[in-house]
Amino acid sequence: MSIDPASPPRLPPVHRVLDWPAVAALAEAHGRPLVVDAVRAVLDACRRGEEPDTDTAILEAVSRRITSLVAPGQKTVFNLTGTVLHTNLGRAPLPPEAIEAMTRIAAGASNLEYDLATGKRGERDSHVTGWLQRLTGAEAATVVNNNAAAVLLTLNSLAARKEVIVSRGELIEIGGAFRLPDIMARAGCRLREVGTTNRTHLRDYAEAIGPRTALILKAHTSNYRIEGFTAEVDERTLAGLAAKHGLPFVVDLGSGTLTDLTRLGLPAEPTPTETLSRGADLVTFSGDKLLGGPQAGMVVGRTDLIERLRRNPMKRAMRCDKLTLAALEAVLRLYADPERVCQRIPALRLLTRSREQIAAMAARCRQPLQQWAGTEWDVDMVDVDSQIGSGSLPVDLLPSKALRLRRQGGGRTGGQALNRLAARLRALPMPVVGRIADDTLLLDLRCLEDPAPLLAQLNNSG
Ligand SMILES: *Cc1c(COP(=O)(O)O)cnc(C)c1O
Repeated sequence: MSIDPASPPRLPPVHRVLDWPAVAALAEAHGRPLVVDAVRAVLDACRRGEEPDTDTAILEAVSRRITSLVAPGQKTVFNLTGTVLHTNLGRAPLPPEAIEAMTRIAAGASNLEYDLATGKRGERDSHVTGWLQRLTGAEAATVVNNNAAAVLLTLNSLAARKEVIVSRGELIEIGGAFRLPDIMARAGCRLREVGTTNRTHLRDYAEAIGPRTALILKAHTSNYRIEGFTAEVDERTLAGLAAKHGLPFVVDLGSGTLTDLTRLGLPAEPTPTETLSRGADLVTFSGDKLLGGPQAGMVVGRTDLIERLRRNPMKRAMRCDKLTLAALEAVLRLYADPERVCQRIPALRLLTRSREQIAAMAARCRQPLQQWAGTEWDVDMVDVDSQIGSGSLPVDLLPSKALRLRRQGGGRTGGQALNRLAARLRALPMPVVGRIADDTLLLDLRCLEDPAPLLAQLNNSG
Protein backbone atom coordinates (compact mmCIF):
# COMPACT_ATOMS: atom_id res chain seq x y z
CA MET A 1 0.00 0.00 0.00
CA SER A 2 1.40 3.34 -1.00
CA ILE A 3 1.09 6.46 1.04
CA ASP A 4 -0.71 9.34 -0.66
CA PRO A 5 1.85 12.14 -0.66
CA ALA A 6 -0.95 14.72 -0.53
CA SER A 7 -2.21 13.25 2.73
CA PRO A 8 0.55 13.19 5.33
CA PRO A 9 0.13 10.19 7.63
CA ARG A 10 0.51 12.23 10.77
CA LEU A 11 -2.73 14.16 10.17
CA PRO A 12 -5.21 12.88 12.79
CA PRO A 13 -8.61 11.57 11.64
CA VAL A 14 -11.73 13.66 12.32
CA HIS A 15 -13.03 11.52 15.20
CA ARG A 16 -9.70 11.74 17.00
CA VAL A 17 -9.71 15.54 16.83
CA LEU A 18 -13.29 15.58 18.10
CA ASP A 19 -12.12 13.67 21.16
CA TRP A 20 -9.54 16.28 22.13
CA PRO A 21 -10.89 17.87 25.35
CA ALA A 22 -10.74 21.43 23.97
CA VAL A 23 -12.63 20.40 20.83
CA ALA A 24 -15.14 18.38 22.84
CA ALA A 25 -15.73 21.53 24.90
CA LEU A 26 -16.42 23.51 21.71
CA ALA A 27 -18.93 20.85 20.63
CA GLU A 28 -20.58 21.05 24.05
CA ALA A 29 -20.85 24.84 23.79
CA HIS A 30 -21.89 25.25 20.16
CA GLY A 31 -23.33 21.90 19.06
CA ARG A 32 -21.59 18.96 17.44
CA PRO A 33 -22.51 19.56 13.77
CA LEU A 34 -20.80 22.97 13.62
CA VAL A 35 -17.64 21.60 15.19
CA VAL A 36 -17.56 18.50 12.96
CA ASP A 37 -17.81 20.76 9.91
CA ALA A 38 -15.06 23.02 11.23
CA VAL A 39 -12.72 20.09 11.96
CA ARG A 40 -13.31 18.64 8.48
CA ALA A 41 -12.63 22.01 6.89
CA VAL A 42 -9.42 22.53 8.87
CA LEU A 43 -8.11 19.04 8.09
CA ASP A 44 -8.91 19.59 4.40
CA ALA A 45 -6.98 22.87 4.53
CA CYS A 46 -4.03 21.04 6.15
CA ARG A 47 -4.11 18.41 3.41
CA ARG A 48 -3.98 21.15 0.81
CA GLY A 49 -1.04 22.63 2.67
CA GLU A 50 -2.98 25.82 3.49
CA GLU A 51 -2.73 25.41 7.27
CA PRO A 52 0.12 24.06 9.44
CA ASP A 53 -0.72 20.54 10.55
CA THR A 54 0.57 20.36 14.11
CA ASP A 55 -2.04 19.47 16.75
CA THR A 56 -1.75 22.93 18.30
CA ALA A 57 -2.26 24.64 14.94
CA ILE A 58 -5.24 22.44 14.13
CA LEU A 59 -6.86 23.20 17.47
CA GLU A 60 -6.29 26.89 17.00
CA ALA A 61 -7.72 26.88 13.49
CA VAL A 62 -10.80 24.95 14.61
CA SER A 63 -11.56 27.35 17.44
CA ARG A 64 -10.91 30.36 15.20
CA ARG A 65 -13.41 29.02 12.67
CA ILE A 66 -16.04 28.34 15.33
CA THR A 67 -15.57 31.77 16.90
CA SER A 68 -16.09 33.55 13.64
CA LEU A 69 -19.01 31.30 12.69
CA VAL A 70 -20.97 31.93 15.89
CA ALA A 71 -20.19 35.65 16.14
CA PRO A 72 -23.32 37.71 15.44
CA GLY A 73 -23.47 38.79 11.80
CA GLN A 74 -25.20 42.02 12.68
CA LYS A 75 -22.98 43.99 15.04
CA THR A 76 -23.23 47.26 16.87
CA VAL A 77 -21.03 49.83 15.14
CA PHE A 78 -20.03 53.42 15.84
CA ASN A 79 -21.64 55.58 13.18
CA LEU A 80 -19.07 58.34 12.76
CA THR A 81 -19.96 58.97 9.13
CA GLY A 82 -21.66 62.26 9.91
CA THR A 83 -24.93 60.99 8.44
CA VAL A 84 -27.29 60.57 11.35
CA LEU A 85 -30.10 58.56 9.72
CA HIS A 86 -27.77 56.32 7.72
CA THR A 87 -29.80 53.69 5.87
CA ASN A 88 -26.85 51.28 5.56
CA LEU A 89 -26.19 51.59 9.29
CA GLY A 90 -29.78 50.99 10.35
CA ARG A 91 -31.21 54.54 10.51
CA ALA A 92 -32.74 55.78 13.76
CA PRO A 93 -31.46 54.54 17.14
CA LEU A 94 -34.42 53.70 19.37
CA PRO A 95 -35.19 55.31 22.73
CA PRO A 96 -34.98 53.11 25.86
CA GLU A 97 -38.79 53.17 26.15
CA ALA A 98 -39.09 51.44 22.76
CA ILE A 99 -36.35 48.93 23.55
CA GLU A 100 -38.05 48.09 26.84
CA ALA A 101 -41.40 47.60 25.09
CA MET A 102 -39.88 45.32 22.43
CA THR A 103 -38.06 43.24 25.02
CA ARG A 104 -41.20 42.87 27.14
CA ILE A 105 -43.43 41.91 24.21
CA ALA A 106 -40.84 39.63 22.57
CA ALA A 107 -40.69 37.30 25.53
CA GLY A 108 -44.22 35.97 25.44
CA ALA A 109 -47.82 36.18 24.28
CA SER A 110 -49.53 39.56 23.92
CA ASN A 111 -52.92 40.96 22.96
CA LEU A 112 -51.50 41.79 19.53
CA GLU A 113 -54.75 40.95 17.72
CA TYR A 114 -56.96 40.16 20.64
CA ASP A 115 -59.52 42.43 22.26
CA LEU A 116 -59.19 41.90 25.98
CA ALA A 117 -62.55 43.60 26.69
CA THR A 118 -64.64 41.31 24.50
CA GLY A 119 -62.40 38.27 24.24
CA LYS A 120 -62.75 38.51 20.46
CA ARG A 121 -60.29 39.01 17.66
CA GLY A 122 -58.75 42.48 17.62
CA GLU A 123 -56.87 44.70 15.19
CA ARG A 124 -53.07 44.81 15.40
CA ASP A 125 -52.94 48.37 14.09
CA SER A 126 -55.15 49.51 16.96
CA HIS A 127 -52.13 49.80 19.26
CA VAL A 128 -50.78 52.71 17.24
CA THR A 129 -53.66 54.20 15.25
CA GLY A 130 -55.03 56.14 18.21
CA TRP A 131 -51.65 57.81 18.68
CA LEU A 132 -51.25 58.48 14.96
CA GLN A 133 -54.69 60.11 14.81
CA ARG A 134 -53.99 62.22 17.87
CA LEU A 135 -50.54 63.31 16.68
CA THR A 136 -51.49 64.08 13.07
CA GLY A 137 -55.13 65.09 13.45
CA ALA A 138 -56.07 62.43 10.88
CA GLU A 139 -59.45 60.67 10.89
CA ALA A 140 -57.84 57.27 10.44
CA ALA A 141 -54.48 55.59 10.14
CA THR A 142 -52.81 52.32 9.25
CA VAL A 143 -49.27 51.03 9.40
CA VAL A 144 -47.11 48.66 7.33
CA ASN A 145 -43.46 47.57 7.24
CA ASN A 146 -41.92 50.66 5.67
CA ASN A 147 -42.89 53.71 3.69
CA ALA A 148 -42.15 52.02 0.36
CA ALA A 149 -44.82 49.48 1.33
CA ALA A 150 -47.15 52.28 2.42
CA VAL A 151 -46.87 53.89 -1.03
CA LEU A 152 -47.23 50.55 -2.83
CA LEU A 153 -50.30 49.61 -0.77
CA THR A 154 -51.89 53.02 -1.27
CA LEU A 155 -51.40 52.98 -5.03
CA ASN A 156 -52.53 49.38 -5.43
CA SER A 157 -55.61 49.87 -3.24
CA LEU A 158 -56.79 53.10 -4.84
CA ALA A 159 -55.46 53.04 -8.39
CA ALA A 160 -54.89 49.50 -9.73
CA ARG A 161 -55.44 49.39 -13.53
CA LYS A 162 -55.91 53.14 -13.53
CA GLU A 163 -53.83 56.26 -13.93
CA VAL A 164 -51.93 58.18 -11.31
CA ILE A 165 -50.92 61.73 -12.12
CA VAL A 166 -47.46 62.79 -10.93
CA SER A 167 -45.28 65.78 -11.78
CA ARG A 168 -42.11 64.97 -13.74
CA GLY A 169 -40.25 66.96 -11.10
CA GLU A 170 -41.17 64.34 -8.49
CA LEU A 171 -40.30 61.04 -10.19
CA ILE A 172 -37.88 60.28 -7.44
CA GLU A 173 -35.41 57.56 -6.72
CA ILE A 174 -34.52 57.19 -3.05
CA GLY A 175 -31.38 55.24 -2.11
CA GLY A 176 -31.95 51.53 -1.77
CA ALA A 177 -34.00 51.05 -4.92
CA PHE A 178 -37.15 52.99 -4.18
CA ARG A 179 -38.03 54.39 -7.60
CA LEU A 180 -41.46 55.86 -7.89
CA PRO A 181 -42.04 54.70 -11.51
CA ASP A 182 -41.12 51.10 -10.57
CA ILE A 183 -43.32 51.10 -7.47
CA MET A 184 -46.11 52.47 -9.62
CA ALA A 185 -45.71 49.63 -12.14
CA ARG A 186 -45.68 46.98 -9.41
CA ALA A 187 -48.76 48.53 -7.87
CA GLY A 188 -50.47 47.93 -11.22
CA CYS A 189 -50.97 51.61 -11.95
CA ARG A 190 -50.27 53.59 -15.06
CA LEU A 191 -48.00 56.53 -14.40
CA ARG A 192 -49.28 59.70 -16.02
CA GLU A 193 -46.34 62.13 -15.96
CA VAL A 194 -47.16 65.79 -16.27
CA GLY A 195 -45.16 68.98 -16.65
CA THR A 196 -41.40 69.09 -16.99
CA THR A 197 -38.54 68.38 -14.61
CA ASN A 198 -38.30 71.96 -13.41
CA ARG A 199 -41.79 73.34 -14.03
CA THR A 200 -45.22 71.87 -13.59
CA HIS A 201 -48.38 74.00 -13.65
CA LEU A 202 -51.95 73.49 -12.52
CA ARG A 203 -53.11 73.22 -16.15
CA ASP A 204 -50.70 70.29 -16.69
CA TYR A 205 -52.52 68.35 -14.00
CA ALA A 206 -55.97 69.53 -15.11
CA GLU A 207 -55.40 68.52 -18.73
CA ALA A 208 -54.26 65.03 -17.69
CA ILE A 209 -57.41 64.23 -15.74
CA GLY A 210 -59.64 61.82 -17.64
CA PRO A 211 -61.97 58.85 -17.14
CA ARG A 212 -59.06 56.55 -16.19
CA THR A 213 -57.57 58.84 -13.56
CA ALA A 214 -57.61 57.31 -10.08
CA LEU A 215 -55.63 59.80 -8.02
CA ILE A 216 -53.17 62.65 -7.92
CA LEU A 217 -49.90 61.96 -6.17
CA LYS A 218 -47.38 64.40 -4.82
CA ALA A 219 -44.04 63.01 -3.66
CA HIS A 220 -41.69 64.90 -1.41
CA THR A 221 -38.45 65.30 -3.35
CA SER A 222 -36.54 64.22 -0.29
CA ASN A 223 -33.02 63.87 -1.56
CA TYR A 224 -32.67 66.67 -4.08
CA ARG A 225 -33.86 70.16 -4.65
CA ILE A 226 -34.57 71.80 -7.96
CA GLU A 227 -33.42 75.39 -7.97
CA GLY A 228 -33.63 78.30 -10.39
CA PHE A 229 -36.44 78.58 -12.95
CA THR A 230 -38.92 76.28 -11.25
CA ALA A 231 -42.63 75.98 -10.66
CA GLU A 232 -44.71 73.48 -8.78
CA VAL A 233 -48.34 73.51 -7.80
CA ASP A 234 -48.88 73.98 -4.09
CA GLU A 235 -50.71 71.29 -2.17
CA ARG A 236 -53.79 73.34 -1.41
CA THR A 237 -54.39 74.07 -5.09
CA LEU A 238 -53.78 70.45 -6.11
CA ALA A 239 -56.11 69.26 -3.36
CA GLY A 240 -58.77 71.63 -4.72
CA LEU A 241 -58.34 70.28 -8.25
CA ALA A 242 -58.52 66.66 -7.04
CA ALA A 243 -61.62 67.37 -4.95
CA LYS A 244 -63.37 69.05 -7.90
CA HIS A 245 -62.95 65.81 -9.86
CA GLY A 246 -63.72 63.51 -6.94
CA LEU A 247 -60.16 62.13 -6.92
CA PRO A 248 -58.10 61.35 -3.85
CA PHE A 249 -55.03 63.53 -3.38
CA VAL A 250 -52.15 61.53 -1.87
CA VAL A 251 -48.88 62.97 -0.55
CA ASP A 252 -45.82 60.82 0.05
CA LEU A 253 -43.91 62.83 2.64
CA GLY A 254 -40.99 60.42 2.89
CA SER A 255 -39.47 61.41 6.18
CA GLY A 256 -42.33 63.20 7.79
CA THR A 257 -41.86 64.60 11.24
CA LEU A 258 -44.35 64.82 14.05
CA THR A 259 -42.80 67.88 15.59
CA ASP A 260 -41.92 71.34 14.32
CA LEU A 261 -38.23 70.95 13.49
CA THR A 262 -37.62 74.69 13.18
CA ARG A 263 -38.43 74.97 16.90
CA LEU A 264 -35.38 72.70 17.41
CA GLY A 265 -33.18 74.81 15.15
CA LEU A 266 -33.42 72.29 12.31
CA PRO A 267 -34.49 72.97 8.70
CA ALA A 268 -38.24 73.03 8.13
CA GLU A 269 -39.81 69.75 7.06
CA PRO A 270 -43.55 69.37 6.43
CA THR A 271 -45.55 67.50 9.04
CA PRO A 272 -48.44 65.15 8.21
CA THR A 273 -50.70 67.51 10.16
CA GLU A 274 -49.83 70.47 7.91
CA THR A 275 -50.13 68.36 4.79
CA LEU A 276 -53.56 67.07 5.81
CA SER A 277 -54.69 70.57 6.68
CA ARG A 278 -53.74 71.67 3.16
CA GLY A 279 -56.21 69.15 1.83
CA ALA A 280 -54.31 65.89 1.34
CA ASP A 281 -56.65 62.90 1.60
CA LEU A 282 -53.86 60.49 2.54
CA VAL A 283 -50.28 61.09 3.70
CA THR A 284 -47.55 58.43 3.86
CA PHE A 285 -44.31 58.64 5.86
CA SER A 286 -41.51 56.53 7.38
CA GLY A 287 -41.12 55.32 10.94
CA ASP A 288 -37.32 55.27 11.09
CA LYS A 289 -36.39 58.57 9.51
CA LEU A 290 -37.07 61.85 11.32
CA LEU A 291 -39.75 60.18 13.45
CA GLY A 292 -36.90 58.33 15.14
CA GLY A 293 -38.72 55.03 15.56
CA PRO A 294 -38.56 51.51 14.15
CA GLN A 295 -38.76 50.73 10.44
CA ALA A 296 -42.41 51.22 9.54
CA GLY A 297 -44.62 53.02 7.03
CA MET A 298 -47.57 55.10 8.14
CA VAL A 299 -50.62 56.07 6.13
CA VAL A 300 -52.92 58.66 7.70
CA GLY A 301 -56.01 60.41 6.38
CA ARG A 302 -59.60 59.79 5.30
CA THR A 303 -61.41 56.87 6.95
CA ASP A 304 -63.01 55.55 3.74
CA LEU A 305 -59.65 55.43 1.94
CA ILE A 306 -57.82 53.85 4.88
CA GLU A 307 -60.59 51.21 4.91
CA ARG A 308 -59.83 50.38 1.28
CA LEU A 309 -56.15 49.92 2.18
CA ARG A 310 -57.06 47.69 5.10
CA ARG A 311 -59.26 45.47 2.93
CA ASN A 312 -56.49 44.93 0.34
CA PRO A 313 -54.96 41.43 0.77
CA MET A 314 -51.58 43.09 0.18
CA LYS A 315 -51.96 44.70 3.61
CA ARG A 316 -51.71 41.23 5.15
CA ALA A 317 -48.38 40.68 3.41
CA MET A 318 -47.04 44.00 4.63
CA ARG A 319 -48.29 43.97 8.19
CA CYS A 320 -45.93 44.94 11.01
CA ASP A 321 -44.86 42.38 13.58
CA LYS A 322 -45.55 42.74 17.28
CA LEU A 323 -42.03 44.04 18.04
CA THR A 324 -42.29 46.89 15.55
CA LEU A 325 -45.72 47.80 16.84
CA ALA A 326 -44.48 47.74 20.45
CA ALA A 327 -41.56 50.03 19.59
CA LEU A 328 -43.68 52.35 17.47
CA GLU A 329 -46.33 52.69 20.18
CA ALA A 330 -43.63 53.60 22.72
CA VAL A 331 -42.07 56.17 20.38
CA LEU A 332 -45.41 57.77 19.48
CA ARG A 333 -46.23 58.08 23.18
CA LEU A 334 -43.06 60.18 23.63
CA TYR A 335 -44.42 62.66 21.07
CA ALA A 336 -47.35 63.35 23.40
CA ASP A 337 -44.96 65.63 25.32
CA PRO A 338 -43.61 68.05 22.70
CA GLU A 339 -41.49 69.90 25.25
CA ARG A 340 -39.29 66.92 25.98
CA VAL A 341 -39.50 64.92 22.77
CA CYS A 342 -36.25 66.34 21.43
CA GLN A 343 -34.27 64.97 24.36
CA ARG A 344 -36.09 61.64 24.54
CA ILE A 345 -35.95 60.60 20.88
CA PRO A 346 -32.28 59.78 20.18
CA ALA A 347 -32.46 60.73 16.50
CA LEU A 348 -33.71 64.23 17.37
CA ARG A 349 -31.21 64.53 20.20
CA LEU A 350 -28.32 63.67 17.86
CA LEU A 351 -29.57 66.01 15.16
CA THR A 352 -29.76 68.93 17.58
CA ARG A 353 -26.36 68.56 19.28
CA SER A 354 -24.34 71.74 18.99
CA ARG A 355 -20.88 71.93 17.47
CA GLU A 356 -19.59 72.86 20.96
CA GLN A 357 -21.00 69.69 22.53
CA ILE A 358 -19.54 67.58 19.74
CA ALA A 359 -16.19 69.39 20.03
CA ALA A 360 -16.01 68.45 23.72
CA MET A 361 -16.40 64.80 22.71
CA ALA A 362 -13.73 65.17 20.02
CA ALA A 363 -11.32 66.70 22.54
CA ARG A 364 -11.70 63.65 24.79
CA CYS A 365 -11.07 61.19 21.99
CA ARG A 366 -8.26 62.90 20.10
CA GLN A 367 -5.29 61.73 22.14
CA PRO A 368 -6.42 58.09 22.54
CA LEU A 369 -7.11 57.95 18.81
CA GLN A 370 -3.67 59.41 18.08
CA GLN A 371 -2.07 56.71 20.26
CA TRP A 372 -4.09 53.99 18.62
CA ALA A 373 -3.35 55.18 15.08
CA GLY A 374 0.39 55.51 15.66
CA THR A 375 2.96 58.16 14.81
CA GLU A 376 2.45 57.65 11.10
CA TRP A 377 -0.81 59.60 11.49
CA ASP A 378 -1.70 63.14 12.50
CA VAL A 379 -4.97 63.45 14.38
CA ASP A 380 -6.57 66.87 14.70
CA MET A 381 -10.01 68.40 15.20
CA VAL A 382 -11.80 70.07 12.30
CA ASP A 383 -15.14 71.71 11.61
CA VAL A 384 -17.35 69.58 9.37
CA ASP A 385 -21.01 69.46 8.40
CA SER A 386 -23.17 66.48 9.30
CA GLN A 387 -26.17 65.41 7.26
CA ILE A 388 -29.58 64.30 8.42
CA GLY A 389 -29.56 61.38 5.99
CA SER A 390 -32.20 58.97 4.71
CA GLY A 391 -33.01 61.28 1.89
CA SER A 392 -34.01 64.14 4.12
CA LEU A 393 -32.80 67.55 3.20
CA PRO A 394 -29.35 66.71 1.85
CA VAL A 395 -28.64 70.34 1.15
CA ASP A 396 -29.21 71.40 4.72
CA LEU A 397 -26.10 70.68 6.76
CA LEU A 398 -25.59 70.61 10.50
CA PRO A 399 -22.40 72.19 11.94
CA SER A 400 -20.33 69.49 13.60
CA LYS A 401 -16.82 68.53 14.65
CA ALA A 402 -14.69 65.65 13.42
CA LEU A 403 -11.39 64.02 14.26
CA ARG A 404 -9.32 64.08 11.10
CA LEU A 405 -6.61 61.48 10.47
CA ARG A 406 -3.93 62.52 7.98
CA ARG A 407 -0.81 60.65 7.03
CA GLN A 408 2.33 62.33 8.31
CA GLY A 409 3.82 64.43 5.58
CA GLY A 410 0.48 64.46 3.74
CA GLY A 411 0.67 64.12 -0.01
CA ARG A 412 -1.56 62.22 -2.38
CA THR A 413 0.22 58.89 -2.01
CA GLY A 414 -1.62 57.93 1.16
CA GLY A 415 -4.72 56.46 -0.51
CA GLN A 416 -3.91 52.84 0.23
CA ALA A 417 -2.65 53.59 3.72
CA LEU A 418 -5.86 55.51 4.34
CA ASN A 419 -7.97 52.57 3.19
CA ARG A 420 -5.97 50.27 5.46
CA LEU A 421 -6.51 52.61 8.39
CA ALA A 422 -10.26 52.72 7.69
CA ALA A 423 -10.24 48.91 7.52
CA ARG A 424 -8.40 48.71 10.87
CA LEU A 425 -11.13 50.86 12.44
CA ARG A 426 -13.81 48.63 10.92
CA ALA A 427 -12.05 45.55 12.29
CA LEU A 428 -12.29 46.73 15.92
CA PRO A 429 -14.56 44.63 18.19
CA MET A 430 -17.17 47.38 17.88
CA PRO A 431 -16.42 48.56 14.34
CA VAL A 432 -15.92 52.28 13.74
CA VAL A 433 -17.25 53.64 10.46
CA GLY A 434 -16.02 57.04 9.32
CA ARG A 435 -15.76 58.68 5.93
CA ILE A 436 -12.86 59.39 3.62
CA ALA A 437 -12.64 62.89 2.17
CA ASP A 438 -9.75 64.78 0.56
CA ASP A 439 -7.14 62.13 1.40
CA THR A 440 -8.11 62.17 5.06
CA LEU A 441 -10.27 59.96 7.25
CA LEU A 442 -12.94 61.93 9.08
CA LEU A 443 -14.67 60.68 12.22
CA ASP A 444 -17.65 62.98 12.79
CA LEU A 445 -18.51 62.66 16.47
CA ARG A 446 -22.12 63.90 16.22
CA CYS A 447 -23.47 60.40 16.88
CA LEU A 448 -21.05 59.57 19.69
CA GLU A 449 -22.91 60.29 22.91
CA ASP A 450 -20.96 57.99 25.21
CA PRO A 451 -17.23 57.91 24.40
CA ALA A 452 -16.36 55.28 27.04
CA PRO A 453 -16.76 52.14 24.90
CA LEU A 454 -14.84 53.75 22.02
CA LEU A 455 -12.00 54.88 24.29
CA ALA A 456 -11.85 51.47 25.98
CA GLN A 457 -11.38 49.61 22.73
CA LEU A 458 -8.86 52.14 21.40
CA ASN A 459 -6.82 51.72 24.60
CA ASN A 460 -7.05 47.93 24.44
CA SER A 461 -6.12 47.45 20.83
CA GLY A 462 -3.58 50.19 20.19
C1 LIG B 1 -37.49 57.34 2.21
C2 LIG B 1 -38.62 57.57 1.30
C3 LIG B 1 -39.43 56.52 0.88
C4 LIG B 1 -39.17 55.10 1.31
O1 LIG B 1 -39.38 54.97 2.70
P1 LIG B 1 -38.84 53.66 3.48
O2 LIG B 1 -39.39 53.82 4.86
O3 LIG B 1 -37.36 53.73 3.40
O4 LIG B 1 -39.40 52.48 2.78
C5 LIG B 1 -40.49 56.80 0.05
N1 LIG B 1 -40.73 58.06 -0.38
C6 LIG B 1 -39.97 59.12 -0.01
C7 LIG B 1 -40.30 60.48 -0.51
C8 LIG B 1 -38.89 58.90 0.85
O5 LIG B 1 -38.12 59.93 1.24
